[in-house]
Amino acid sequence: MNDLRVLITGGAGFIGSHLSDAYLERGDEVFIIDDLSTGSIDNITHLKSHARFHYTIDSVHNQPAVAELIDQCDVIFHLAAAVGVKLIVESPVHTIETNVRGTEVVLAQANKKKKKVLVASTSEVYGLSTEVPFKEDGNLVMGATTKGRWSYACSKAIDEFLALAYWREKKLPTVVVRLFNTVGPRQTGQYGMVIPTFVKQALAGRPITVYGTGEQTRCFGYVGDVVGALVKLMDKDDSVGQVFNIGSDEEVSIMELAERVKSLTGSSSEIVTMPYDEAYEEGFEDMPRRVPDISKVGAAVGFRPTMKLDGILESVIEYYRSR
Ligand code: UDP
Repeated sequence: MNDLRVLITGGAGFIGSHLSDAYLERGDEVFIIDDLSTGSIDNITHLKSHARFHYTIDSVHNQPAVAELIDQCDVIFHLAAAVGVKLIVESPVHTIETNVRGTEVVLAQANKKKKKVLVASTSEVYGLSTEVPFKEDGNLVMGATTKGRWSYACSKAIDEFLALAYWREKKLPTVVVRLFNTVGPRQTGQYGMVIPTFVKQALAGRPITVYGTGEQTRCFGYVGDVVGALVKLMDKDDSVGQVFNIGSDEEVSIMELAERVKSLTGSSSEIVTMPYDEAYEEGFEDMPRRVPDISKVGAAVGFRPTMKLDGILESVIEYYRSR
């Protein structure tokens, strides 16, 4: 039995619920706060009767609630955020306010007790950079402010600046992680994520919708691998004040992804392409390639992704088949 008390904001989300599982399996005590905006009670139903699991359904904007939870815990993972390209394009005000204010509250409260905070950021911050593979100290290339998509990258970049500033200026121990397309069971396609969307389309025999030409690439990190790295970075004292890319470096085009999903599900779905303007909004900009350099987190905590893309897809297909 371990006795670390861990607070996870966004703990009913896809990644937060897997992180809760990992700490409870280790014997630690887990507290979560989630407003169920993009998270879901289904993600934590299996944990509700666990003696060492405690959940609060509330927003991270509720300062007294956050302060009380921070008081009770030793370390904090700040995962609560507005995520998903579709959600961001449709609700930019909600995205900016959730991401910036939420982080302000969590860092300010954690600072009062000097409790270590890991802030989840995103590969989206590399924006239009073409310096592939992306390294943590590389430039972030923001798109125009008239394109709603970039509000997510900017809001997360502000979160990063703030977390690093708290370390530099106030010696609050903070760590920033940039997650690259984390995927696996429990992820919903509702907010635009491609793998659950393709899997559900394939299983239902509906057309698989590839946006743009399908030549754009991504690297998909398995949630189990990602969570393992998060736990290790939290355990390690010299991770503070630093930024780490986390994900897989197995690059795949979205067209190839659609073909693999179709073949692994044995689906007769047609693969169709759809212009970005139609899929998101007029003038939408995508990144042609997004590949992380993961050598830093590898050197820090021995991280290497263990799950290949086909294994990841099989786990997601099995999850949606069993539902
Ligand atoms: N995408 C797609 N069809 C979909 C959803 C997404 O072709 O139904 C594409 C999307 O345009 C992007 C990639 O898949 O190029 C990954 O999208 P996702 O929203 O999962 O994550 P992103 O990397 O864009 O944050």
